[in-house]
Amino acid sequence: IPSTMQAVPLLVRRLLENGMTLHSGSEVVTATGGGTRSADYATVGRNAAALAHALAGLGVRPGDRVATFMWNNQEHLEAYLAVPAMGAVIHPLNIRLFPEQLTYIADHAEDTVVIVDGSLLPVFAALLPGMRTVRHVIVNGEADSPLLPDGGRVTVHDYGRLLADRPGTYDWPDLDENQAAAMCYTSGTTGNPKGVVYSHRSLYLHSLGISLPDLMNISAADRLLAIVPQFHAQAWGLPYAAFLTGASLAMPDRFLAPAPLARFIAASRPNKGAGVPTVWQGLADHVRQHPETDISSLREAVVGGSSCPPSLMRAYEDELGIRLLHAWGMTEVSPLGALARAPEGADGEGAWRYRLSQGRFPAPVEARLMGQDGAVLPWDGRSVGELEVRGPWITGSYHLDDDPEKFHDGWLRTGDVGTISADGFLTLTDRVKDVIKSGGEWISSVELENHLMAHPAVAEACVVAVPDDKWGERPLATVVLRDGSGVTHDELRRFLAGKVAAWQVPERWALLGAVPKTSVGKFDKKTLRKQYADGELA
Ligand code: ADP
Repeated sequence: IPSTMQAVPLLVRRLLENGMTLHSGSEVVTATGGGTRSADYATVGRNAAALAHALAGLGVRPGDRVATFMWNNQEHLEAYLAVPAMGAVIHPLNIRLFPEQLTYIADHAEDTVVIVDGSLLPVFAALLPGMRTVRHVIVNGEADSPLLPDGGRVTVHDYGRLLADRPGTYDWPDLDENQAAAMCYTSGTTGNPKGVVYSHRSLYLHSLGISLPDLMNISAADRLLAIVPQFHAQAWGLPYAAFLTGASLAMPDRFLAPAPLARFIAASRPNKGAGVPTVWQGLADHVRQHPETDISSLREAVVGGSSCPPSLMRAYEDELGIRLLHAWGMTEVSPLGALARAPEGADGEGAWRYRLSQGRFPAPVEARLMGQDGAVLPWDGRSVGELEVRGPWITGSYHLDDDPEKFHDGWLRTGDVGTISADGFLTLTDRVKDVIKSGGEWISSVELENHLMAHPAVAEACVVAVPDDKWGERPLATVVLRDGSGVTHDELRRFLAGKVAAWQVPERWALLGAVPKTSVGKFDKKTLRKQYADGELA
């Protein structure tokens, strides 16, 4: 029988209306370098309406792609709300990608308008000629360089002037909840970047989901520090969750180095945050060197995007009283797929075992482990296989691009390898592409890295597979030592020998000034493997 429930669609517009009315006094605080600027959600909502009028005036129609080339800030939040609510598709571009990737992505997505932070104009100006579908560029804030050439194919506007005198309300359209609302490109398995297209429904459900107490636990009482960029998997959902719950937002803009970030935390006083491990590591090192730094407002912060070293999680807890929450996610998963809070009743080392895992799946994320022979493996905490997931906020394909390798009978193949315990906690040992196959056995690069980063002399450690005549592959350990440390490879080998099987201990070592990082701040294993192949690390 049909249900009696109202078929009201789940729309971003509802998040916008909810935030700007019921939580009109909540605010977004943006770092300005020397200080901060703030706007309450009533103002953000009015600006979003003004932006929608402006975009409609430029010819933006439902379904059109409006890109952003921005840091995390108030205006980026306004675009996040206005563009989907008016029926168009918000497409944050990853400002740190290579130029040829960026022009490929903007072309492939057929972006027609790009909103650019003035501080990023020098980078953007070089890209614009290659973005063939772009007709309008809207510059937000002071431009550090001469304005872009106006005229010809592209018209250049100023964000403030374009919104001035526009109405603060908009007749938001009724939309189909399964329509596209936002998009984000990611690496896929091979070839060009792949576009993931989120629907209104998936964004709405993801916002509800991540706000649950056992996930990010977000309420109107919170102030969320979004260090993770809005171009990295939607800042992990924080902006929409903030408008759903009424939580305030603290946006660091371009001031992401440890010192200005610490100052921003002291000034904006967030109690929760989210970022990749390298960011939290940098902040901890800064606070150690500058004990007068006040980041005491932070109580809880999500860390994910790559495996967080246990030593870092323990240091935050013991030295700073901040609880880092390990989470697993992917652009294809909106992105939150699992989050690690110890279950009721677990304490001490028992609780840590749960918290150091990649976390437990929420109900909307169904998971299974696939063995190498194609059999589904048991959740016994021992069987190692590739993780596959499905659910209402997980992508089932890529935008205008096949990648059959990534999908399997309606499940997303994550490319992540690990185990699942009987109570549903995921522990990842590697990515399929990073696994080290030595003499027919797998060595977990993550496990070696975690042990190495627990050594007091080691600031960063990254382990990659390199070819070996006898064993097929062997681990290469690259390490960055803390200032003044004279620890030798032999000492580190002995340190590892007590912790992993003897045959897993690397015999190849390289000392680095810094581990290369990807565009979103993860250890860049591809570059390290290439550097080794080119003889640069021998
Ligand atoms: P990219 O593939 O460009 O890094 P994503 O940011 O979407 O794009 O990365 C998703 C991947 O990041 C996951 O498939 C997984 O390999 C890795 N990852 C995310 N969170 C964790 C975590 N907590 N531990 C280990 N790996 C993680």
